[in-house]
Amino acid sequence: MNFLSPDQELWRDSVSRFMDERITVEYIRRCDIERSYPYEGYAKLAEAGFLRLLIPEEYGGSGGSVLDYALMCEGLGKYGFDFAAAVVVPTFTAMNIVHFGNAEQCATYLEPFMAGQRRFSISISEPSAGSDAAATRTRARLSEGAYVIRGQKLWCSGAAARDVTIAMLVRSDPDAAKHKGLSVLLVPNDTPGLDIRKLPTLSRRATGTTEIFIDDARVPEANRLGAAGQGWEIITSNLRLERVAISAAYVGNAQTVVDTALRYARERQQFDRAISEFQVIRHMLADMQTRVDAARLLVYRAADAVASGAACEREVAMAKLFASEALQDVSRNGMQILGGHSMLPEADMERYFREGMQCTIGGGTSQIQRTIIARAMLASN
Ligand SMILES: Cc1cc2nc3c(=O)[nH]c(=O)nc-3n(C[C@H](O)[C@H](O)[C@H](O)COP(=O)(O)OP(=O)(O)OC[C@H]3O[C@@H](n4cnc5c(N)ncnc54)[C@H](O)[C@@H]3O)c2cc1C
Repeated sequence: MNFLSPDQELWRDSVSRFMDERITVEYIRRCDIERSYPYEGYAKLAEAGFLRLLIPEEYGGSGGSVLDYALMCEGLGKYGFDFAAAVVVPTFTAMNIVHFGNAEQCATYLEPFMAGQRRFSISISEPSAGSDAAATRTRARLSEGAYVIRGQKLWCSGAAARDVTIAMLVRSDPDAAKHKGLSVLLVPNDTPGLDIRKLPTLSRRATGTTEIFIDDARVPEANRLGAAGQGWEIITSNLRLERVAISAAYVGNAQTVVDTALRYARERQQFDRAISEFQVIRHMLADMQTRVDAARLLVYRAADAVASGAACEREVAMAKLFASEALQDVSRNGMQILGGHSMLPEADMERYFREGMQCTIGGGTSQIQRTIIARAMLASN
Protein backbone atom coordinates (compact mmCIF):
# COMPACT_ATOMS: atom_id res chain seq x y z
CA MET A 1 0.00 0.00 0.00
CA ASN A 2 1.41 3.40 -0.96
CA PHE A 3 0.51 6.18 1.45
CA LEU A 4 1.95 8.99 -0.65
CA SER A 5 0.50 10.62 -3.75
CA PRO A 6 2.82 10.94 -6.80
CA ASP A 7 3.26 14.63 -5.93
CA GLN A 8 4.27 13.79 -2.38
CA GLU A 9 6.75 11.15 -3.62
CA LEU A 10 8.19 13.77 -5.94
CA TRP A 11 8.46 16.29 -3.11
CA ARG A 12 10.22 13.81 -0.83
CA ASP A 13 12.68 12.91 -3.60
CA SER A 14 13.38 16.52 -4.46
CA VAL A 15 14.21 17.42 -0.83
CA SER A 16 16.51 14.41 -0.67
CA ARG A 17 18.23 15.47 -3.92
CA PHE A 18 18.57 19.03 -2.60
CA MET A 19 20.37 17.67 0.45
CA ASP A 20 22.77 15.63 -1.72
CA GLU A 21 23.47 18.29 -4.32
CA ARG A 22 23.18 21.66 -2.52
CA ILE A 23 23.88 20.92 1.15
CA THR A 24 26.00 17.70 1.18
CA VAL A 25 26.93 15.41 4.02
CA GLU A 26 30.49 16.81 4.01
CA TYR A 27 29.15 20.27 4.87
CA ILE A 28 26.99 18.95 7.71
CA ARG A 29 29.92 16.91 9.05
CA ARG A 30 32.18 19.98 8.97
CA CYS A 31 29.64 22.11 10.88
CA ASP A 32 29.50 19.38 13.55
CA ILE A 33 33.28 19.09 13.84
CA GLU A 34 33.72 22.87 14.00
CA ARG A 35 30.62 23.35 16.18
CA SER A 36 29.60 26.10 13.77
CA TYR A 37 26.03 27.12 12.95
CA PRO A 38 25.08 26.08 9.35
CA TYR A 39 24.42 29.64 8.09
CA GLU A 40 25.27 28.82 4.49
CA GLY A 41 23.03 25.75 4.34
CA TYR A 42 20.19 27.59 6.06
CA ALA A 43 20.46 30.44 3.53
CA LYS A 44 20.22 27.92 0.67
CA LEU A 45 17.07 26.42 2.19
CA ALA A 46 15.52 29.87 2.57
CA GLU A 47 16.45 30.83 -0.98
CA ALA A 48 14.82 27.65 -2.30
CA GLY A 49 11.59 28.48 -0.42
CA PHE A 50 11.73 25.62 2.12
CA LEU A 51 10.92 27.96 5.01
CA ARG A 52 7.63 29.00 3.36
CA LEU A 53 6.04 25.57 3.76
CA LEU A 54 3.07 25.50 6.20
CA ILE A 55 2.94 29.33 6.47
CA PRO A 56 -0.45 30.38 5.00
CA GLU A 57 -0.43 31.98 1.56
CA GLU A 58 -1.93 35.23 2.93
CA TYR A 59 1.43 35.85 4.66
CA GLY A 60 3.49 34.92 1.61
CA GLY A 61 3.92 31.27 2.56
CA SER A 62 3.25 28.28 0.35
CA GLY A 63 0.77 26.56 2.69
CA GLY A 64 0.90 22.79 2.31
CA SER A 65 -0.14 19.92 4.55
CA VAL A 66 1.37 18.50 7.73
CA LEU A 67 2.43 15.45 5.70
CA ASP A 68 4.20 17.69 3.15
CA TYR A 69 6.04 19.25 6.08
CA ALA A 70 6.89 15.84 7.56
CA LEU A 71 8.27 14.71 4.19
CA MET A 72 10.45 17.80 4.06
CA CYS A 73 11.73 17.13 7.59
CA GLU A 74 12.48 13.52 6.65
CA GLY A 75 14.71 14.84 3.86
CA LEU A 76 16.32 17.57 5.99
CA GLY A 77 17.21 14.97 8.64
CA LYS A 78 18.89 12.71 6.11
CA TYR A 79 22.42 13.56 7.29
CA GLY A 80 21.65 14.13 10.95
CA PHE A 81 19.00 15.67 13.16
CA ASP A 82 21.09 18.72 14.03
CA PHE A 83 20.74 20.18 10.53
CA ALA A 84 16.98 19.53 10.43
CA ALA A 85 16.71 21.26 13.82
CA ALA A 86 17.85 24.49 12.15
CA VAL A 87 14.47 24.52 10.37
CA VAL A 88 12.17 22.61 12.74
CA VAL A 89 13.01 24.77 15.78
CA PRO A 90 12.23 28.18 14.19
CA THR A 91 9.19 26.83 12.33
CA PHE A 92 7.63 25.94 15.70
CA THR A 93 7.62 29.62 16.73
CA ALA A 94 6.69 30.84 13.24
CA MET A 95 3.54 28.69 13.44
CA ASN A 96 2.82 30.00 16.94
CA ILE A 97 3.00 33.53 15.51
CA VAL A 98 0.61 32.49 12.70
CA HIS A 99 -1.87 31.11 15.27
CA PHE A 100 -1.49 33.56 18.16
CA GLY A 101 0.27 36.65 16.77
CA ASN A 102 -1.56 39.91 16.06
CA ALA A 103 -1.46 41.51 12.59
CA GLU A 104 1.58 43.61 13.47
CA GLN A 105 3.57 40.63 14.78
CA CYS A 106 2.70 38.57 11.68
CA ALA A 107 3.86 41.45 9.46
CA THR A 108 7.05 41.99 11.49
CA TYR A 109 8.22 38.42 11.80
CA LEU A 110 6.85 36.08 9.14
CA GLU A 111 8.35 37.42 5.92
CA PRO A 112 11.85 37.92 7.47
CA PHE A 113 11.61 34.34 8.79
CA MET A 114 10.66 32.90 5.40
CA ALA A 115 13.40 34.95 3.71
CA GLY A 116 15.97 33.46 6.13
CA GLN A 117 16.72 36.83 7.78
CA ARG A 118 15.14 36.14 11.17
CA ARG A 119 15.49 32.89 13.08
CA PHE A 120 13.55 31.78 16.15
CA SER A 121 14.47 29.75 19.21
CA ILE A 122 12.10 28.34 21.75
CA SER A 123 12.97 28.65 25.42
CA ILE A 124 10.81 26.60 27.74
CA SER A 125 13.27 24.53 29.81
CA GLU A 126 14.99 25.80 32.94
CA PRO A 127 17.36 24.21 35.45
CA SER A 128 14.38 23.03 37.52
CA ALA A 129 11.78 22.85 34.72
CA GLY A 130 12.48 19.89 32.42
CA SER A 131 9.73 17.34 31.81
CA ASP A 132 7.69 19.44 34.23
CA ALA A 133 7.86 22.28 31.72
CA ALA A 134 5.27 24.48 33.44
CA ALA A 135 7.47 24.77 36.55
CA THR A 136 8.85 27.96 34.98
CA ARG A 137 10.49 30.32 37.46
CA THR A 138 11.86 32.96 35.10
CA ARG A 139 9.89 36.01 36.11
CA ALA A 140 8.62 38.81 33.84
CA ARG A 141 7.28 41.93 35.59
CA LEU A 142 5.29 44.58 33.72
CA SER A 143 6.68 48.05 34.30
CA GLU A 144 5.86 51.17 32.28
CA GLY A 145 4.83 49.32 29.14
CA ALA A 146 7.71 46.85 29.19
CA TYR A 147 8.36 43.38 30.61
CA VAL A 148 11.44 43.20 32.82
CA ILE A 149 12.73 39.60 32.77
CA ARG A 150 14.93 37.93 35.35
CA GLY A 151 15.86 34.27 35.68
CA GLN A 152 17.66 31.43 33.94
CA LYS A 153 16.82 29.32 30.90
CA LEU A 154 18.44 26.07 29.78
CA TRP A 155 18.78 24.05 26.56
CA CYS A 156 17.58 26.87 24.33
CA SER A 157 18.58 25.52 20.91
CA GLY A 158 19.92 27.85 18.25
CA ALA A 159 19.77 30.89 20.54
CA ALA A 160 23.44 31.80 20.09
CA ALA A 161 23.14 32.18 16.31
CA ARG A 162 22.81 35.51 14.45
CA ASP A 163 19.45 37.31 14.09
CA VAL A 164 17.48 35.16 16.54
CA THR A 165 14.29 36.06 18.36
CA ILE A 166 13.67 33.79 21.34
CA ALA A 167 10.10 32.79 22.16
CA MET A 168 10.52 32.65 25.92
CA LEU A 169 8.09 31.09 28.37
CA VAL A 170 8.01 33.29 31.48
CA ARG A 171 6.02 33.54 34.68
CA SER A 172 4.13 36.79 34.26
CA ASP A 173 1.72 36.28 37.16
CA PRO A 174 3.23 34.51 40.19
CA ASP A 175 -0.14 34.51 41.99
CA ALA A 176 -2.04 32.61 39.29
CA ALA A 177 -2.27 28.79 39.13
CA LYS A 178 0.83 27.00 37.81
CA HIS A 179 -0.30 26.70 34.17
CA LYS A 180 -2.24 29.99 34.14
CA GLY A 181 0.44 32.49 35.18
CA LEU A 182 2.64 31.94 32.10
CA SER A 183 3.17 34.12 29.03
CA VAL A 184 5.31 33.90 25.90
CA LEU A 185 7.56 36.87 25.13
CA LEU A 186 9.43 37.47 21.88
CA VAL A 187 12.93 38.41 23.01
CA PRO A 188 15.65 39.35 20.46
CA ASN A 189 18.85 37.52 21.41
CA ASP A 190 20.86 40.79 21.44
CA THR A 191 18.64 42.32 24.15
CA PRO A 192 20.80 43.86 26.92
CA GLY A 193 20.58 41.75 30.08
CA LEU A 194 20.84 38.39 28.23
CA ASP A 195 23.97 36.30 28.66
CA ILE A 196 23.71 33.39 26.19
CA ARG A 197 26.30 30.60 26.40
CA LYS A 198 26.57 27.72 23.93
CA LEU A 199 26.92 24.42 25.79
CA PRO A 200 29.56 21.76 24.93
CA THR A 201 26.98 19.04 24.31
CA LEU A 202 27.41 15.49 22.95
CA SER A 203 25.06 16.30 20.07
CA ARG A 204 23.44 19.42 18.53
CA ARG A 205 26.97 20.73 18.08
CA ALA A 206 26.32 22.86 15.00
CA THR A 207 23.02 24.63 15.65
CA GLY A 208 23.94 24.49 19.33
CA THR A 209 21.96 24.51 22.52
CA THR A 210 22.49 27.12 25.20
CA GLU A 211 21.99 28.31 28.74
CA ILE A 212 20.73 31.86 29.20
CA PHE A 213 21.22 34.05 32.24
CA ILE A 214 18.70 36.87 32.29
CA ASP A 215 19.31 39.93 34.39
CA ASP A 216 16.60 42.57 34.01
CA ALA A 217 16.26 42.22 30.24
CA ARG A 218 13.49 44.52 28.96
CA VAL A 219 11.13 43.95 26.04
CA PRO A 220 8.09 46.06 25.11
CA GLU A 221 4.71 44.73 26.24
CA ALA A 222 3.88 44.54 22.51
CA ASN A 223 6.39 41.65 22.27
CA ARG A 224 4.03 39.37 24.18
CA LEU A 225 2.58 36.66 21.94
CA GLY A 226 -1.13 36.17 22.61
CA ALA A 227 -2.76 37.25 25.86
CA ALA A 228 -1.12 37.48 29.28
CA GLY A 229 -1.51 34.08 30.94
CA GLN A 230 -1.95 32.28 27.60
CA GLY A 231 1.64 30.99 27.55
CA TRP A 232 0.94 27.35 28.33
CA GLU A 233 -1.78 27.11 25.70
CA ILE A 234 0.55 28.66 23.09
CA ILE A 235 3.46 26.36 23.89
CA THR A 236 1.41 23.19 23.91
CA SER A 237 -0.95 23.86 21.01
CA ASN A 238 1.71 23.21 18.36
CA LEU A 239 3.55 20.43 20.19
CA ARG A 240 1.91 17.78 18.04
CA LEU A 241 3.24 19.38 14.86
CA GLU A 242 6.68 19.77 16.43
CA ARG A 243 6.80 16.12 17.47
CA VAL A 244 5.72 14.88 14.04
CA ALA A 245 8.41 17.06 12.44
CA ILE A 246 11.25 15.85 14.65
CA SER A 247 10.12 12.22 14.35
CA ALA A 248 10.17 12.53 10.55
CA ALA A 249 13.72 13.87 10.72
CA TYR A 250 14.74 10.91 12.93
CA VAL A 251 13.33 8.56 10.27
CA GLY A 252 15.28 10.35 7.52
CA ASN A 253 18.50 9.94 9.47
CA ALA A 254 17.72 6.33 10.45
CA GLN A 255 17.28 5.43 6.78
CA THR A 256 20.72 6.88 6.00
CA VAL A 257 22.16 4.79 8.84
CA VAL A 258 20.72 1.62 7.27
CA ASP A 259 21.87 2.59 3.76
CA THR A 260 25.38 3.33 5.06
CA ALA A 261 25.59 0.04 6.96
CA LEU A 262 24.27 -1.91 3.97
CA ARG A 263 26.82 -0.33 1.62
CA TYR A 264 29.65 -1.01 4.04
CA ALA A 265 28.58 -4.61 4.64
CA ARG A 266 28.64 -5.23 0.87
CA GLU A 267 32.10 -3.71 0.45
CA ARG A 268 33.95 -4.83 3.56
CA GLN A 269 35.80 -8.10 3.00
CA GLN A 270 36.79 -10.38 5.87
CA PHE A 271 37.60 -14.11 5.72
CA ASP A 272 37.66 -13.79 1.89
CA ARG A 273 34.09 -12.63 1.60
CA ALA A 274 31.90 -9.58 2.08
CA ILE A 275 30.69 -9.32 5.69
CA SER A 276 27.14 -9.14 4.23
CA GLU A 277 27.56 -12.87 3.54
CA PHE A 278 27.45 -13.57 7.27
CA GLN A 279 23.94 -14.34 8.37
CA VAL A 280 24.32 -12.48 11.62
CA ILE A 281 25.03 -9.25 9.70
CA ARG A 282 22.16 -9.91 7.29
CA HIS A 283 19.74 -10.32 10.17
CA MET A 284 20.94 -7.11 11.78
CA LEU A 285 20.33 -5.27 8.51
CA ALA A 286 16.88 -6.86 8.13
CA ASP A 287 15.88 -5.82 11.65
CA MET A 288 17.22 -2.31 11.10
CA GLN A 289 15.25 -1.70 7.90
CA THR A 290 12.09 -3.21 9.41
CA ARG A 291 12.33 -0.81 12.35
CA VAL A 292 12.86 2.18 10.11
CA ASP A 293 9.90 1.25 7.89
CA ALA A 294 7.68 0.82 10.96
CA ALA A 295 8.81 4.19 12.32
CA ARG A 296 8.12 5.86 8.98
CA LEU A 297 4.58 4.45 8.87
CA LEU A 298 3.89 5.65 12.41
CA VAL A 299 5.14 9.13 11.47
CA TYR A 300 2.99 9.32 8.33
CA ARG A 301 -0.02 8.14 10.33
CA ALA A 302 0.62 10.78 12.98
CA ALA A 303 1.04 13.51 10.32
CA ASP A 304 -2.25 12.50 8.77
CA ALA A 305 -3.96 12.52 12.18
CA VAL A 306 -2.62 15.98 13.06
CA ALA A 307 -3.82 17.31 9.69
CA SER A 308 -7.31 15.90 10.33
CA GLY A 309 -7.57 18.00 13.50
CA ALA A 310 -8.70 14.97 15.51
CA ALA A 311 -7.38 14.24 19.01
CA CYS A 312 -4.18 12.31 18.29
CA GLU A 313 -1.82 12.68 21.26
CA ARG A 314 -1.46 8.90 21.33
CA GLU A 315 -0.53 8.58 17.63
CA VAL A 316 1.94 11.46 17.85
CA ALA A 317 3.55 10.13 21.04
CA MET A 318 3.87 6.67 19.46
CA ALA A 319 5.62 8.16 16.41
CA LYS A 320 8.00 10.20 18.60
CA LEU A 321 8.72 7.27 20.91
CA PHE A 322 9.27 4.69 18.20
CA ALA A 323 11.19 6.86 15.72
CA SER A 324 13.62 8.18 18.36
CA GLU A 325 14.28 4.72 19.77
CA ALA A 326 14.58 3.30 16.24
CA LEU A 327 17.29 5.86 15.42
CA GLN A 328 19.19 4.93 18.58
CA ASP A 329 18.83 1.24 17.88
CA VAL A 330 19.86 1.30 14.22
CA SER A 331 22.77 3.68 14.80
CA ARG A 332 24.10 1.42 17.57
CA ASN A 333 23.94 -1.51 15.16
CA GLY A 334 25.40 0.70 12.43
CA MET A 335 28.41 1.31 14.71
CA GLN A 336 28.80 -2.44 15.15
CA ILE A 337 28.59 -3.21 11.44
CA LEU A 338 31.13 -0.54 10.52
CA GLY A 339 33.50 -1.89 13.20
CA GLY A 340 36.50 0.30 14.10
CA HIS A 341 35.82 2.53 11.09
CA SER A 342 32.59 3.69 12.76
CA MET A 343 34.60 5.66 15.34
CA LEU A 344 35.92 8.14 12.77
CA PRO A 345 34.07 11.38 11.96
CA GLU A 346 34.36 10.80 8.19
CA ALA A 347 32.26 7.63 8.52
CA ASP A 348 29.43 9.84 9.97
CA MET A 349 28.07 6.91 11.99
CA GLU A 350 29.49 8.18 15.30
CA ARG A 351 27.65 11.50 14.67
CA TYR A 352 24.36 9.73 13.89
CA PHE A 353 24.86 7.65 17.05
CA ARG A 354 25.56 10.76 19.18
CA GLU A 355 22.60 12.64 17.75
CA GLY A 356 20.38 9.59 18.27
CA MET A 357 21.19 9.70 21.99
CA GLN A 358 19.58 13.14 22.23
CA CYS A 359 16.39 12.14 20.43
CA THR A 360 14.84 10.21 23.30
CA ILE A 361 15.28 13.28 25.54
CA GLY A 362 14.61 16.46 23.52
CA GLY A 363 11.02 17.18 22.50
CA GLY A 364 9.73 15.16 25.49
CA THR A 365 11.50 12.06 26.82
CA SER A 366 10.55 8.47 25.96
CA GLN A 367 9.18 8.05 29.48
CA ILE A 368 6.86 11.01 28.96
CA GLN A 369 5.73 9.66 25.54
CA ARG A 370 4.89 6.30 27.15
CA THR A 371 2.96 8.13 29.85
CA ILE A 372 0.94 10.00 27.18
CA ILE A 373 0.22 6.78 25.26
CA ALA A 374 -0.89 4.89 28.37
CA ARG A 375 -3.06 7.82 29.51
CA ALA A 376 -4.84 7.88 26.13
CA MET A 377 -5.29 4.09 26.20
CA LEU A 378 -6.77 4.16 29.68
CA ALA A 379 -9.04 7.09 28.84
CA SER A 380 -10.52 5.33 25.82
CA ASN A 381 -11.08 1.89 27.36
C1 LIG B 1 20.12 18.77 22.76
C2 LIG B 1 18.90 19.28 23.44
C3 LIG B 1 18.20 20.35 22.90
C4 LIG B 1 17.11 20.89 23.56
N1 LIG B 1 16.48 21.98 23.03
C5 LIG B 1 15.53 22.61 23.74
C6 LIG B 1 14.98 23.85 23.28
O1 LIG B 1 15.29 24.34 22.20
N2 LIG B 1 14.09 24.49 24.09
C7 LIG B 1 13.69 23.99 25.29
O2 LIG B 1 12.90 24.63 25.95
N3 LIG B 1 14.18 22.81 25.73
C8 LIG B 1 15.09 22.11 25.00
N4 LIG B 1 15.62 20.93 25.46
C9 LIG B 1 15.20 20.43 26.75
C10 LIG B 1 14.36 19.18 26.68
O3 LIG B 1 13.05 19.49 26.29
C11 LIG B 1 14.45 18.53 28.05
O4 LIG B 1 15.77 18.03 28.20
C12 LIG B 1 13.44 17.43 28.25
O5 LIG B 1 12.13 17.93 28.28
C13 LIG B 1 13.70 16.63 29.53
O6 LIG B 1 13.93 17.47 30.61
P1 LIG B 1 15.22 17.23 31.54
O7 LIG B 1 16.40 17.09 30.65
O8 LIG B 1 15.26 18.29 32.56
O9 LIG B 1 15.01 15.84 32.21
P2 LIG B 1 14.08 15.53 33.49
O10 LIG B 1 12.70 16.03 33.26
O11 LIG B 1 14.78 15.95 34.72
O12 LIG B 1 14.03 13.94 33.42
C14 LIG B 1 15.10 13.11 33.91
C15 LIG B 1 14.61 11.67 33.77
O13 LIG B 1 13.42 11.48 34.56
C16 LIG B 1 12.35 11.04 33.74
N5 LIG B 1 11.10 11.63 34.19
C17 LIG B 1 10.84 12.92 34.49
N6 LIG B 1 9.55 13.08 34.82
C18 LIG B 1 8.95 11.88 34.69
C19 LIG B 1 7.64 11.38 34.86
N7 LIG B 1 6.62 12.19 35.20
N8 LIG B 1 7.40 10.07 34.63
C20 LIG B 1 8.41 9.24 34.26
N9 LIG B 1 9.68 9.64 34.08
C21 LIG B 1 9.96 10.94 34.28
C22 LIG B 1 12.71 11.50 32.33
O14 LIG B 1 12.05 10.75 31.33
C23 LIG B 1 14.22 11.33 32.32
O15 LIG B 1 14.54 9.98 32.05
C24 LIG B 1 16.68 20.33 24.78
C25 LIG B 1 17.36 19.24 25.31
C26 LIG B 1 18.44 18.71 24.66
C27 LIG B 1 19.16 17.54 25.28
